Amino acid sequence: MNILISACLLGARCRYDGEGFALPEMNELKKYCTLIPICPEQMGGLPTPRVPAEIVGDAIINKEGVDVTYQYMTGAKTALTYAQLNNVQYALLKAKSPSCGKGKIYDGTFSGTLIDGSGITARLLEENGIKVYTENDIDELLQILLTNNNTSV
Ligand code: SF4
Repeated sequence: MNILISACLLGARCRYDGEGFALPEMNELKKYCTLIPICPEQMGGLPTPRVPAEIVGDAIINKEGVDVTYQYMTGAKTALTYAQLNNVQYALLKAKSPSCGKGKIYDGTFSGTLIDGSGITARLLEENGIKVYTENDIDELLQILLTNNNTSV
C-alpha cells in the first residue's frame, strides 16, 4: 500500500525554518507500506527557508503580508496528482501546517492561536477521497495498516 507523507515527517529539512522532524513511529510505519514523500510548499515553488504563512479566509498570506495563495494551491494540486498517480488512499501529514494540517490550524494572526480547520493540501486530498491523518493520530493509521497487512497474507 502506498501512503502519502509530509516529507518533513521523514526528517527532510523542508519546513519554513529549514528544519524537519524525526517521528519515532516511522520505522514501524515503513514495515507496512511504501511512503510517497511530498512537500506541497516546495512543490508550489516556495524556497526553504521561507517566510511562514497562515490561512486568512480564502487566501494564504505570509508574515510579510504577501499573498502566496497561488503557490500553496499549486503545491496542493501537485500533491493530489502524486496521490492519484500512486493510487494513494491514506496520507500522513504534519499537524497544524497551513498546507498539511488537519483539524487544527493557526488563525491567521501569527499569534500561535489555533482554530478548527485544515490546511489546503489536506482539504484537497480529503475532497478527493483520500483519508488524512497527522502525526497526532498515527496510531490509528498504524492499526489500519496492520489490519490490512494481516488480511492480505
Ligand atoms: S508543506 Fe507540509 S511537508 Fe512541507 S514543510 Fe510544511 S508541513 Fe512539512
